[in-house]
Amino acid sequence: MSYGDPSKFVAALYVEEQCYDYSYTREIIKRSSLPVSLVKDHGTPEVDGIYPENLTRGKQSLFLCRNRGRFFKSCPGTREYNCCGYQVLNIGMNCPMDCVYCILQAYLNNPWLSFFVNIEDLFAELDEALQAEPDHVLRVGTGEFTDSLALDRLTGLSRHLIGYICEKENAVLELKTKSAMIDNLCNIDHNGRVIVAWSLNSPVIMGREEIRTATLDERLAAASRCAELGYPIAFHFDPIIWHEGWQDGYRYMIGKIFKAVPKERIVWISLGALRFLPHLKPIAASRFPHSRFFYEEFVEGLDGKSRYFRDQRVEMYKLLVNELNRFISDRTCIYFCMESDVIWQEVFGFTPEEKGGLSNMLDLTWREFHR
Ligand code: SF4
Repeated sequence: MSYGDPSKFVAALYVEEQCYDYSYTREIIKRSSLPVSLVKDHGTPEVDGIYPENLTRGKQSLFLCRNRGRFFKSCPGTREYNCCGYQVLNIGMNCPMDCVYCILQAYLNNPWLSFFVNIEDLFAELDEALQAEPDHVLRVGTGEFTDSLALDRLTGLSRHLIGYICEKENAVLELKTKSAMIDNLCNIDHNGRVIVAWSLNSPVIMGREEIRTATLDERLAAASRCAELGYPIAFHFDPIIWHEGWQDGYRYMIGKIFKAVPKERIVWISLGALRFLPHLKPIAASRFPHSRFFYEEFVEGLDGKSRYFRDQRVEMYKLLVNELNRFISDRTCIYFCMESDVIWQEVFGFTPEEKGGLSNMLDLTWREFHR
């Protein structure tokens, strides 16, 4: 069933007092037509209940505030697994959609959605980072602590980011989403420097475990439109979840991709099997008692996260990679998000090290793609 725009779940705006007069804040308030409550500087919105029980209610409150920390950081990958060298642009925390497996439930300790409105500081940090590495293309993504587009109808941030990045020689921005909210990506010059990416899953998982997200058809229709608009497209199959009929579900999803999007427009596809911090399980189990996938057998990985056993991961990856290889263009990079050399070797027959490292593989893919 289609939910539509996830930002319509937001029912109230909270604004940190010192941010109230920012022109960007005013723009969001005007666009949203939602009731506004002021919050003292350094204060927080009031949401009844105790975390994480109040998370569903909290996701209806959008807090416009200052980011007092850094906007721009390297992705917090772990040493034990191959990390892609992504740079995270932290635009806010939490999102109005609600995936059962969402790591943010265990990572955050407050229920509301935060969105940082001091975007001059964000662009100043980006300037600094890009000037520091003029010969290196930075791959920047906003989809680490939130969804890149789920609130975009209200915030309009994508247009500010695209306007900035389209002129930069040494940066590429990846907007990653489970929504179909692409209106702001139309009628704007992106100069081929913005990748629009969708996280996809088997339709059963999307329908059952990803609440208020767009359906597979809606995501692919949005991807198709973005491809027509000249955007490079990416897909992330993450988390791949073992469930009854998973083989058919993932095959079906892959077949649909290549009917919707010309294969030459796809820059990369990542695969990552379900992994989670152990304390996510009780949180998710209490919020979503009907979900069953946390009750499979797991092994603790080198990063302390629970993962499927190696044989099970290899079986799933091999099926997906074989299916992708039926359709894929040779300019598209398929890679694993946070997997060990052993898995790379078993599934792909090589390790990232042999190709100069995963970060280098993606840099080369991008350079070839953008030529
Ligand atoms: S879309 Fe992403 S950020 Fe939002 S709930 Fe799902 S996993 Fe979490």
